[in-house]
Amino acid sequence: MSPAAAIAALCVLAAQPVAPSDAARITGEALRGESHRILSDLTDRVGARLAGSPGADAAVLWAVEWFRTQGIPVRVEPVLVNHWVRGEERAELIAPKGGRPQPLAVTALGMSAPTPPGGLAAEVVEVRSLEEVAALGVKVKGRIVLFQHDMKDASGYGKSAGLRMRGPAAASRQGAAAALVRSLSTASFRLPHTGTTFFPPGERAIPAAALAVEDAELLHRMLARGPVTVRLVLGGRLADPPLAPSANVVAEIRGAEKPDEVVVIGAHLDSWDLGTGAIDDGAGVAMVLDTMRIAASMPRPPRRTLRAVLFMNEENGAEGAVAYHEASLAAGTRHVAAMEADSGAGRPTGIEVTAGQGGVAAVRAMAAPLAALGASEVVVGGGGVDISPLAYAGVPFLSVAQETSRYFDWHHSAADTFDKVDPRALAEATAAFAWMAWALADSQAVLPSQPAPKQPPWWNRASP
Ligand SMILES: [Zn+2]
Repeated sequence: MSPAAAIAALCVLAAQPVAPSDAARITGEALRGESHRILSDLTDRVGARLAGSPGADAAVLWAVEWFRTQGIPVRVEPVLVNHWVRGEERAELIAPKGGRPQPLAVTALGMSAPTPPGGLAAEVVEVRSLEEVAALGVKVKGRIVLFQHDMKDASGYGKSAGLRMRGPAAASRQGAAAALVRSLSTASFRLPHTGTTFFPPGERAIPAAALAVEDAELLHRMLARGPVTVRLVLGGRLADPPLAPSANVVAEIRGAEKPDEVVVIGAHLDSWDLGTGAIDDGAGVAMVLDTMRIAASMPRPPRRTLRAVLFMNEENGAEGAVAYHEASLAAGTRHVAAMEADSGAGRPTGIEVTAGQGGVAAVRAMAAPLAALGASEVVVGGGGVDISPLAYAGVPFLSVAQETSRYFDWHHSAADTFDKVDPRALAEATAAFAWMAWALADSQAVLPSQPAPKQPPWWNRASP
């Protein structure tokens, strides 16, 4: 080869941070659909995985075994998690004058306190905001506070989720006996949708439950006619002791050139207990695992280390996120990018990135091979609860945006089961995720750091 031809060849190589054949190979492998088989194994053989439960323990062992079978080095990192257990739960509308009693579909929120044995009965006060509870003051004392909202589609979740997260504590502060939260759901077959609720340390936990949308509307109509009394029986409670030992599962493929630079890809291994956690977050676990399988099958390792973390208890305390963050600080880990898969099993619609100046353009170049999947559009955004502490270290975040129009039909309910997952959509989301993970780990340059978040860290223990 002449020197000129050699230089020209080098220039072509330099212009291609990652070889296009890698993209074809990785997406093609993901589209074979192994992610769907992984998900079926997790949901059918392990099932529900509430943190602290035998199901969560089984999931940790399942994941370790899966990585061992693939020949990928794996370890567990211990985490203490909230050990909340569900008990008996039922409610009824007590017969108003001239009416008949009616059963109500309820399920306790995570971290709810139990009712007294035999339950409690109290008049219902309906509110639509945290401010309204505070304004009602003593009128709330001894009552059951019903939190109504008007969530209609997936985009309404963020706005209404605060009622579930902070409503029961706001009611407790005014002396309420209990709280009912209209389910955060976009479809309802009279199923209650659970989720965690937060009682700040030192505040009185009260019984708190999600109510099926139909029953929230029934109570709303009855309240228009006059006073309404509900009997509530909730057995859900923190176990004794309230924390249980558990673990994050961490596996990695060591980088060939810069092993100390880590691209972390995560999903949460725990799930709510009502269904089998197929879309939340079994799908994310399957995407992460299949990404590791595919990366390990490549003819050479990526330049940087690709690390998978299956976080414990994203749903009911997020201790896994904090523990991973603290362990990384102690180890001096240099994360160069973080990806989290926790948006269900829908097809990919694009890539979201949170990074410094020039980050979107850099990711746009990486995402070009995803055009055929309709996933090459890059916008600002992304992240997730489990990787969120890394924002304080400036670590750039990248997410695969997914189709979520039906996600909140099933989310956190008994209907979150494997049959809801379309294998082709999950395979496509996995292809987009796997390719972006590889591209981040194997590109010449790292993404620019994201600016420090304006809000203070949400966790209490460590500061970055
Ligand atoms: Zn989730």
